[in-house]
Amino acid sequence: MAVEQHVTYCRICEALCGMIATVEDGRLQSLRPDPDNPLSRGRACPKGIAFTDIQNDADRVLAPMRRRADGTFAEVSWDTALDDIAARLTGIVAEHGGSAVGQYFGNPIAFGYATGLWSGIFLTRLGGHHQYSSGSQDINSRFVASKLLYGAASQIPFPDLPRTDFLFMLGANPLVSHGSAVRTPRIRDDLSAITARGGRVVVVDPRRTETARAYEHLPVRPDSDAWLLLSMLQVIFSEDLADTAALTEQTTGWQTLRHIAAGFPPEDTQTRTGVDAEVLRGLARDFAGAPRAVAYGRTGACLGRHGTLVSFLLDALSIVTGNLDRIGGMLFSQAVIPLEDMGEKAGRLTYDSARSRVGDLPEVISTYPAALMAEEIITPGEGQMRAMFVTAGNPVLTVPNGPMLEKALGELDLLVSLDLYVNETNRRQRQRVDVQRRRGPGAPGRHVRAQRHRGADRADRRQRRSVRRCHVLISR
Ligand code: SF4
Repeated sequence: MAVEQHVTYCRICEALCGMIATVEDGRLQSLRPDPDNPLSRGRACPKGIAFTDIQNDADRVLAPMRRRADGTFAEVSWDTALDDIAARLTGIVAEHGGSAVGQYFGNPIAFGYATGLWSGIFLTRLGGHHQYSSGSQDINSRFVASKLLYGAASQIPFPDLPRTDFLFMLGANPLVSHGSAVRTPRIRDDLSAITARGGRVVVVDPRRTETARAYEHLPVRPDSDAWLLLSMLQVIFSEDLADTAALTEQTTGWQTLRHIAAGFPPEDTQTRTGVDAEVLRGLARDFAGAPRAVAYGRTGACLGRHGTLVSFLLDALSIVTGNLDRIGGMLFSQAVIPLEDMGEKAGRLTYDSARSRVGDLPEVISTYPAALMAEEIITPGEGQMRAMFVTAGNPVLTVPNGPMLEKALGELDLLVSLDLYVNETNRRQRQRVDVQRRRGPGAPGRHVRAQRHRGADRADRRQRRSVRRCHVLISR
């Protein structure tokens, strides 16, 4: 038996931890952290290590599958699948135009450049504009803040953790999430190193999260972050703690920000934020007085009612104190392959360059809020979505109005899912039959699956009304 060791890395999240894969006769046996990876240095989390189970999972879809007239799935060749999709897509475009075609992609496409690149070109060539992503449940407000601040939605500055003296963190729990928009596979070590060298890590969060427990916790009332940040800016400006030299050199319009912040002294906002005015004044003074400081926020900062404003104000806090593009502050990265630059130059990373057909909402980097998908499918008229491609996503579970979307997907003429698994979005009818066939008679867990899907089967039989939809579940 040939046993090989391969150096690789985990693609699940942006930490990209180094891994060693043990492969025996072409089959993955195990994954373990790579001690020689210069960034992760022998660290990986259980998710990455458990990927062996995904790779070898009998339930993984390994070939294209097309749903039959009776609702079951049948394995088909790639040629058959692609020809069928192309023929039906051609018919839909001929009858309704390219604007009837849409796509949704999930978070995994961020960790492989090809899908993001080509899916956009695919839709553009068809003349489609129905593009949705997990970004509207995650980071789109951050993109908008960057567009407004820096003129480039793709530019998200990251905190220089190894060299900062003061990390002000809002709406993030990196000891659990392993960090986002921060690019460090050993974030626990990075945070601990800040306090070990005499610095501070202040975690602003309504909940005493795992990260808050490990460092200084500043509880704040939910959805009051904008008031807290404006008050910090008010203190910094009013007490002449701003770095006006940096502001003059790096910005335009900062006097407007000072003027706006002047209306939010901590004494006026403490009832809303739940943060005592003197505590907030002290925090603002300490942040501005730290030799090197940085404000950082993630999903919690992005998803409140003022997510764009909060993202904007977080950066403003670093900028006003002279910590933009400075060691220990906020830095911009330079990609090895400048895909983001290419996207900016190609005009793909836009904000409010178009509005949604339903709701009149602005696009963010060529995507609309995913919560609109259901209504875009069921609302008649020019541009009604009739065909949809779902890549690496399960929006029925992850989009706010999942049950409505699940029903709406049944109205499509064509639904193509590119995924490792049969899931809530692509399964639609009679999944049980398909699963039994692929696992084989007598396979462990078969009766459990049959029970789990019996209810779904009954509902599916009631719903079955069309044989024109196609699910292609593609694993590689
Ligand atoms: S933190 Fe975990 S999931 Fe993320 S890249 Fe590392 S091993 Fe993978």
